[in-house]
Amino acid sequence: MRTTLIDGIGLLYTGDPEREEIEGAALVIEDGRVAWTGEAGRAPDADERVDAAGRCVIPGFVDSHAHLVFAGDRTAEFGARMSGEAYTGGGIRTTVAATRAASDAELAARAAALVAEMNAQGTTTVEIKSGYGLTVEDERRSLEIAAALTAETTFLGAHVVPAGADPDAYVRLVTGEMLRACAPYAKWVDVFCERGAFDGDQTREILTAGIKAGLRGRVHANQLGEGPGVRIACELGAASADHCTHLTDADVDALATSGTVATLLPGAEFSTRSPYPDARRLIDAGVTVALATDCNPGSSYTSSMPFCVALAVREMRMTPLEAVRAATRGGAHALGRADVGWVGPGSRADLVVLRAPSYVHLAYRPGVPLVHQVFRGGLLLE
Ligand SMILES: [Zn+2]
Repeated sequence: MRTTLIDGIGLLYTGDPEREEIEGAALVIEDGRVAWTGEAGRAPDADERVDAAGRCVIPGFVDSHAHLVFAGDRTAEFGARMSGEAYTGGGIRTTVAATRAASDAELAARAAALVAEMNAQGTTTVEIKSGYGLTVEDERRSLEIAAALTAETTFLGAHVVPAGADPDAYVRLVTGEMLRACAPYAKWVDVFCERGAFDGDQTREILTAGIKAGLRGRVHANQLGEGPGVRIACELGAASADHCTHLTDADVDALATSGTVATLLPGAEFSTRSPYPDARRLIDAGVTVALATDCNPGSSYTSSMPFCVALAVREMRMTPLEAVRAATRGGAHALGRADVGWVGPGSRADLVVLRAPSYVHLAYRPGVPLVHQVFRGGLLLE
């Protein structure tokens, strides 16, 4: 088996709690996995040698929350919002109409282009949700398109009640025929639990039905106001409660004791000019925190994990180490993945070589393209 040695790493952030950072490091890749990490001088021989020339290496980012299967554009809505209009989530229906009208090929090409954009910015694992089809066939084809791009596919038929539909009848559709059509392509089930979307009872019903169909739960929770989403996510053993912007003390306690990850999506607060979640309160309470882009055409049209890291540090008072940890290992926790989000013997060889001596530069030099090289499964992405 061919082995590759990456030598001359100025700083290796491993994401392994045993030894989180190694200065003057090297690592060996074998068969798509990391076979060895340690001090540069002690590295074993390999067939091929890559010189990192003092750059920092981190695990590939794990973007555990993205909505990439859609058509259309909401530039006008963003422009209006930045001119002073409030965000209510109603714009989802605009994207639903455009998505239903698009061909499979158009949707697949748009989603693939966004994944390529993410890869170029260091993301090597991405979750992709449905949720802009909201008919049995449009949700099914959205998930089929997502499944061609990632193993982390999420059925989000419960994104919003489509225009003109009766809410109770729609929940019956989501938990019945739509779930049956979508489950073969989905790993996760998600609900937008929010005033104007789905209430606590509906959220519980939809998640429970999804779990019964073999999916695991995740919830859009407590984004626009306090609500039952986080507590339901914790009760039902969801891997992640996402947004977590408006939390009571009971919500924080539930997250700290349940093992449900709090996934923070600061791109959404940035793009809707809203108050950011209180990351410090969560971290200090012992909650596992993840960072993700929430990439979607309405409320957070960024595909950039480095941008989210910078926001987390500047706006949410996370340390640079906490932010990088949340964007890698945190995301992996939020997806129940043990093979990604860290770099060490046995991990997948998903690596980002930064054009910088330290990951601190991700926040210190916001908006600067710092990704030098990306390896996914040991292969250099071109
Ligand atoms: Zn979302």
